[in-house]
Amino acid sequence: MSRAGNGVGAGKATSLAQTSGPGLYVHVPFCLTRCGYCDFNAYAGLGHLADRYIAALRREAEMAAGEWTGASFGTVFLGGGTPTTLAPGEVVRLIEDLDRTLGLGEEAEVTVEANPDTVDEAYLRELRVGGVTRLSMGVQSFDPAVLAALERVHSPDSARRAYRAARAAGFDDVNLDLIYGAQGETLASWRGTVEEAVALGPDHLSAYALTIEPSTPLGRKVAAGLVPAPDPDLQAEMYDLACELLAAAGYRHYEVSNWALPGLECRHNVVYWRRGAYLGLGAGAHSHRDGRRWWNLRPPLAYLEAVEAGRPPVGGEERVTPEGARLEEVFLRLRTTEGIPAADVDPALAEPYLAEGLLSRRNGHLVLTERGMFLANDVALALSG
Ligand code: SF4
Repeated sequence: MSRAGNGVGAGKATSLAQTSGPGLYVHVPFCLTRCGYCDFNAYAGLGHLADRYIAALRREAEMAAGEWTGASFGTVFLGGGTPTTLAPGEVVRLIEDLDRTLGLGEEAEVTVEANPDTVDEAYLRELRVGGVTRLSMGVQSFDPAVLAALERVHSPDSARRAYRAARAAGFDDVNLDLIYGAQGETLASWRGTVEEAVALGPDHLSAYALTIEPSTPLGRKVAAGLVPAPDPDLQAEMYDLACELLAAAGYRHYEVSNWALPGLECRHNVVYWRRGAYLGLGAGAHSHRDGRRWWNLRPPLAYLEAVEAGRPPVGGEERVTPEGARLEEVFLRLRTTEGIPAADVDPALAEPYLAEGLLSRRNGHLVLTERGMFLANDVALALSG
């Protein structure tokens, strides 16, 4: 089912979803298996730590509560890792406890990331009834060969089944994550994936270019010449194709890698892109408030030991300098359809990109065009002076 109309392409300075209150991120580092391309703080085989870990999340929230009194969190995002490796009752009780300890807003957006192989309708119904409002599903591709190249455990069929289960369980806000550029993926295969995703009718889609991280198994294979690196020209074509197909289906391209039906942008991500305040709980989670950034110890065991000893599990922190804040502002805001106020940028720096058609001017803002979005980081770097 495609949903026609109302599509707003990039190149238009349009406002993002309204957010209220800070964001709350909760990291769950457990996965069924480790995907070869993944450099997230995620581990297979640590499931035996789950009970201790959930207890530590509760305790960390209690430790943080004093500093966030009266905050009323507008969004919660359980990410990972694979949060749905936890029992659904555990997820729901954890969210209820976070609400009691930290205070969630009345209309809070509560997202849980899911791997298709870890959920069925009964599982998802328990989440939905328990207050989870949004599901983000890691589908990546509907081509079995591409899933195999990515070393994903699930099949296209399990992604289809999990999506239908989410709808049957009452989720009316579902995101599908896709990745393009894996070994052997052709433009035709990518077209098939995007078309099938659109046909399912999700409310939100994220599409990321596969990047090779040197520390991953895939990174080592590429370094050894066993697997070719993604072809950037092909990835650019894939990006263009996604822009075209998703715009035609009525999705608004509101950030470089994100599309949503109007009004269904991910509010949690908008907090990050606006450089709002957010609290991260769990191993390696990052937080930001009042010009201070801090991050937790990354190894789950080190995190657990700190919290269990009653110490804040902070691994490091920094003050954002005015110059750093400006750079971040340009990088983050330019990635969205809001763009950046033209008055904040030296016109001589913007001119070549306007002439090349990578930037456009709208309502006093500089906004990336669809072509410009694929080169967002390069353009942002140039505009930062
Ligand atoms: S499921 Fe996600 S977090 Fe887990 S290993 Fe795969 S890509 Fe990484």
